[in-house]
Amino acid sequence: MNTSPDRPLKAAIIPVTPLQQNCTLLWCTKTMKGAFVDAGGDIDRLKAAAAQHGVAIEKLLVTHGHIDHCGFTGVLAQELGVPIEGPHEDDRFWIEQLDSAGAKYGLEGHSFEPDRWLKDGDQVTVGALVFDVVHCPGHTPGHVVFHHPESNLALVGDVLFQGSIGRTDFPRGNHAQLLESITGKLWPLGGDTAFVPGHGPMSTFAHERRGNAFVADAVLARGGGIHGPTSGPG
Ligand SMILES: [Zn+2]
Ligand SMILES: [Zn+2]
Repeated sequence: MNTSPDRPLKAAIIPVTPLQQNCTLLWCTKTMKGAFVDAGGDIDRLKAAAAQHGVAIEKLLVTHGHIDHCGFTGVLAQELGVPIEGPHEDDRFWIEQLDSAGAKYGLEGHSFEPDRWLKDGDQVTVGALVFDVVHCPGHTPGHVVFHHPESNLALVGDVLFQGSIGRTDFPRGNHAQLLESITGKLWPLGGDTAFVPGHGPMSTFAHERRGNAFVADAVLARGGGIHGPTSGPG
């Protein structure tokens, strides 16, 4: 993805935690400043990846408050001395539970207070890059997506996966709201938009509109009827 030398944005996906969550190292090739999106764990590997690519981390971005996505974001922010931006404040209750959630999911997590809560229509910068913030509730109420229009790239966390969608059986999950987020907020970004999901391989919105078992156009035209997955990556 976006690896040709003239591209303003480069990205490397680093799966972290036993849940193989796709932490993404994003950087601006003009300034070589970068950010991690969803630093959920394995922070020594994350720091090594930034060093390997010669990227100076200037902030940490968070899509939502689940432990595999942000269990170590607070620790890493403190170590690097950088701010945390995201998610939307409606995920505060998830972030407040990170210490205790660790025991429940067999993962280690640490609560933190973001330096900036995000809302729909906000923008975040990484070096000279500007990302649009899209609030996409449903999997969690405060889930946000980061979209870089110039690169046709979106980081969608656990909203959408190749072939599937996020679980909505957690507290304050909402299946109808998740479908509305996907069809009403992601599809309008354009079918050729490539996305990094929270787990598993990349895909494009057009590919999902053709074949996704939950949100393909043909599935929704039949009235949906399939409830979302109740297990799988959190
Ligand atoms: Zn999640
Ligand atoms: Zn996840």
